Amino acid sequence: MTGATTRTVTVDSTPAEIDGRLIELWMTYAHHRAIAESDRLSDDVRDAANQAAREAAEEAEPLEAAYRERQWPRWWWVPNGHLHREGDCSTLYASTERNLTAAASGMDDAQVVKRYGWHVCAVCVPNAPVLDGFRTPGTYAAAEAAANGDCLNKVPTYVNNRGWTAWGGCGECGARGVAVTSLGNLRKHKHQRMADDAARKARIDDPRLIGTPTGEVLKVDRSEIKTKRTAEIEWVRYMEYVGLGWTGDDYRTFARQIAEALAAKDGVTVEDVEARLQLKVDKKLRQIARPATR
Ligand SMILES: [Zn+2]
Ligand SMILES: [Zn+2]
Repeated sequence: MTGATTRTVTVDSTPAEIDGRLIELWMTYAHHRAIAESDRLSDDVRDAANQAAREAAEEAEPLEAAYRERQWPRWWWVPNGHLHREGDCSTLYASTERNLTAAASGMDDAQVVKRYGWHVCAVCVPNAPVLDGFRTPGTYAAAEAAANGDCLNKVPTYVNNRGWTAWGGCGECGARGVAVTSLGNLRKHKHQRMADDAARKARIDDPRLIGTPTGEVLKVDRSEIKTKRTAEIEWVRYMEYVGLGWTGDDYRTFARQIAEALAAKDGVTVEDVEARLQLKVDKKLRQIARPATR
């Protein structure tokens, strides 16, 4: 057997697998029951839907029995709320929408708190606040946020109230100038340190980009040089000025700064870079000199 094959869920599968399959079957069942009960559809269509619903129920039956027998922990997610234990929670109304969270099925209190952090209901899990991970959003939310590049910290290290809007800084990721809500929380923002790390990595790894030898932003003569091509053009320009005998700014120092970045990028010596690019400078200087000799 090759290719993608759906793993068959049996009564011996893990709680997460069984509950994941049961959720699919419940939805399939509800879908076909809705069709079967519609009086606007033909008998043939309704019979087929009834049959499909019955098949879903039949497949679910042994899996439901496995749950009744093994009684693993089940957790229910309230949209925009918390994760609650199976059963009645005093913080919820009977009508509150909740969804079985198959990924958490079979997890004990400590495991669920580790994965879902402060999203776990502290009424359903009374000792949640003393468990490791409760003061965090949990590994699951942290992983989600990391994938989105978001920072989860809401507490500003400083707030600046001057001007029209309040803004503050984030001690968690180093972001500055983040808008602050009327409640004094930082608005959702990109994780600055992660973004900086990614940019630094790109400056080192991306063959088109350039940075300092350590991957920082390459700033020459007060402006940023982003690409390797621009760096080469700028080096040639500065050395052309040097060749023309221009003085004023420190063109030779700027050129040296660029050559060091290019050398680090290509893993060659500064002298190699200078020798290669000097040929372009010489050519340009000859072009400039030629009309003057006429
Ligand atoms: Zn609860
Ligand atoms: Zn932050």
